[in-house]
Amino acid sequence: MIDNSIFENKKAAYLTLGCKLNFAETSAIGRQLSQVGVRKVRQGEVADICVVNTCSVTELADKKCRQAVRKMIKDNPGAYVIVTGCYAQLKPEDIAGIDGVDIVLGSEQKLDIIEHLDELKKKDKGQVYTTKTNQIRSFVPSCSQDDRTRYFLKVQDGCDYFCSFCTIPFARGRSRNGTIESMVNQAREVVAKGGKEIVLTGVNIGDFGKTTGENFFDLIKALDDVEGVERYRISSIEPNLLTDEIIEFVSKSKRFAPHFHIPLQSGSDAVLKLMRRRYDTALFRHKVETIKRIMPDAFIGVDVIVGTRGETDEYFEEARQFLESLDFSQLHVFTYSERPNTQALKIEHEVDPKIKHARCKTLLDLSDKKLEAFYQSQQGTERKVLFEHTQHDSMMYGFTENYVKIETPYQENKANEIKVVRLGMFNKVKTALIEA
Ligand code: SF4
Repeated sequence: MIDNSIFENKKAAYLTLGCKLNFAETSAIGRQLSQVGVRKVRQGEVADICVVNTCSVTELADKKCRQAVRKMIKDNPGAYVIVTGCYAQLKPEDIAGIDGVDIVLGSEQKLDIIEHLDELKKKDKGQVYTTKTNQIRSFVPSCSQDDRTRYFLKVQDGCDYFCSFCTIPFARGRSRNGTIESMVNQAREVVAKGGKEIVLTGVNIGDFGKTTGENFFDLIKALDDVEGVERYRISSIEPNLLTDEIIEFVSKSKRFAPHFHIPLQSGSDAVLKLMRRRYDTALFRHKVETIKRIMPDAFIGVDVIVGTRGETDEYFEEARQFLESLDFSQLHVFTYSERPNTQALKIEHEVDPKIKHARCKTLLDLSDKKLEAFYQSQQGTERKVLFEHTQHDSMMYGFTENYVKIETPYQENKANEIKVVRLGMFNKVKTALIEA
């Protein structure tokens, strides 16, 4: 049993790297520490406790994590340093070896942080607390707030897919989730705090329900009935799990925004096979066409990876042509990076870094073209905008339900409010101005 008096007058600093799920989980860690009396540091203060929640999606992400941990230690001399997250689960010893790190918590331990703090006694060497990834079972609800406007609700964690290039299943464990009832309760809490928009997040959210005998479709139906939530967005959902039933429901729902984020990863069927993805380009095209047929103004963001092993010039060209012919709004382009222990390492054909770079640029140019066309199609339309609190150079921003970014001079009374506006011209950073 921990004596809570050790937390008296303590201040904590938090640093999160990676995805929205990590941000939601850091929020949950922060809540645990605040319940025992630890407050968040204010700007310029030195923390007594530092928490770094790491990511390991690429080799570069690993490097950034190590740098971030070192900077945290330097900026907060003498602080008790806790490192957790995907990189901590995958390479705990790498982190424990950094001078100044006290404890390294794996994915199972990260949301049970208080139990591991050992009276905040600094260690000569970082102590590692991890569970083998295939034994990770717990699901701890997390919901984080972004700029007091948008909330990220974790509905699912882990993944059973084992795509050949991905380390996430090794870092986060098997697919698991909370109950629909607990998600509905958390959505109600967001409403009570004045939140207007909730983004459903997870590693493979379409797989929701594995551990509770429920399913994603029932989840969104239940959430749609929560009074007071102005809108929901579904974050990235695997194309094979984005059923026509879900698309149809979103088009008629009271609160789900016409905004989809679907990972394609490659527009070549041969590369999709090498990646061990569970669909082909025909299925992907069907999903995009179904969305656009029912919701012509829907925003569709698509993830792609360039330069994966096995992506020959021919396959890349096939992928580019497929993308060119598809009616999406924006691409999120990632460059393939080798990850230890992945099946992709067995594929022989490696792509030269210069070619990877050129392919990345080709797809980013295509993305710009598609986004511009989408934004132009929205000019002159009336949309509901949720304005954010943040002020940049006396301007404020917001997003329409179909994810068009809006800019207008800052007015405090608009923050966290939904307003109907007519979209005007688009400026060069592809932000719409409101028509007078
Ligand atoms: S679906 Fe594939 S890419 Fe996505 S987390 Fe699971 S293994 Fe990784």
